Amino acid sequence: MNDMVIGAHGWMEAAQAVQADTVALRRAIHTEPELGLQTPKTMAKVRAALDGLPLEWKTGHSTTGAIAVLRGARPGRTVLLRGDMDALPMPEDTGLPFRSTVANTMHACGHDTHTAMLASAARILCGRKDALEGIVLFMFQPGEEGHHGAKFMMEDGLLANPAPDAAFALHIMPNAPAGLFCSKAGPLMASADVLKVSVRGKGGHASMPHDAIDPMPVACEIVTAIQVFVTRRMDIFDPAVVTIAKIEGGSTNNVIPESVSLLGTIRTLSEEARDRVHEGIERIAQNVARAHECEAEVKIDRGFPVTVCDARAVSVAERAIAGLFGTEGWKTMDSPVMGAEDFSYVLQKTPGVMVFLGVCPEGQMWKSACPCHSNRMVLNEATLARGVAAHCAIAERFLARGFG
Ligand SMILES: [Zn+2]
Ligand SMILES: [Zn+2]
Repeated sequence: MNDMVIGAHGWMEAAQAVQADTVALRRAIHTEPELGLQTPKTMAKVRAALDGLPLEWKTGHSTTGAIAVLRGARPGRTVLLRGDMDALPMPEDTGLPFRSTVANTMHACGHDTHTAMLASAARILCGRKDALEGIVLFMFQPGEEGHHGAKFMMEDGLLANPAPDAAFALHIMPNAPAGLFCSKAGPLMASADVLKVSVRGKGGHASMPHDAIDPMPVACEIVTAIQVFVTRRMDIFDPAVVTIAKIEGGSTNNVIPESVSLLGTIRTLSEEARDRVHEGIERIAQNVARAHECEAEVKIDRGFPVTVCDARAVSVAERAIAGLFGTEGWKTMDSPVMGAEDFSYVLQKTPGVMVFLGVCPEGQMWKSACPCHSNRMVLNEATLARGVAAHCAIAERFLARGFG
């Protein structure tokens, strides 16, 4: 078996040997973050870091993302490892010496580390090419933060010929002990849809509401009716979260406005629950509005689907990581998180898993560390070597044994 030749501990030594490069690449990406589907500078840094290695590069027209293909010495299975590349449109207040130099742009979700870890894993696995049986696809993907980058890369045909038999991704988590890996089978992250409701009445004088049709209390009633729907009509074991995060309407104290708009997010852990919530909100908004002689318009922008991990793939990751760091290196999560991930598109087509890597900064408590998407999010870079080793061990294990 390949892993007998390479040995589980070899991956961590190899990752430590390139740790300085992993950190340097991460910091270079961090200081020059890019947004959305076009991350050409980030991609150029990756290409430079992997220059001269035996990788075939596949690109598409929708994004600047690429798949680097590594063919092992012998034919076999195909495994995909993914790292996302984009930052968030927000200011950075970390005070780090390598903080963002781009206004209102920050790698606050750790995608700089994901890209750097994946690049180092590619370098190491290229060095073990002769021992590999099968193909490793390194998916360098822009546009995760709401831009559907994974979906675009799939539509560009980048995940075909060869198509992966299994897919793995790492995501850092400051709110977990440094170096701990965790995930779970089944739903891991939620679907995320944007909800917009517009309630239209008839404007008028605030002192004579009977001559107008005031949409304000009707909009408020819709907000509470949605929460009643979520608690009374949704199965608690197939849950949903609906948050109305913005209510907008009116201009001054003595004018009844014509319309009021609501903006919020819908999160679910199954496509069934997702459909049910969409239907329910439409029904409630329409009927509450009608009851008060208003009109409602509901618009739902579908975001990422539910991220569902394959139990066999979770087991591959768990065993590979236990082989590197012992069983204490892995924790099976008790429950999903209601954030969303566009790796979900890959997992709709290919059995796989997303694994969280704890990166709580030194000297901080993981429960209170600034989370992903915080303007003050910092992390423990020493843990990145563990992520690199995990990528290698998972790929190698899957190529050698499949889901067995
Ligand atoms: Zn994010
Ligand atoms: Zn992220």
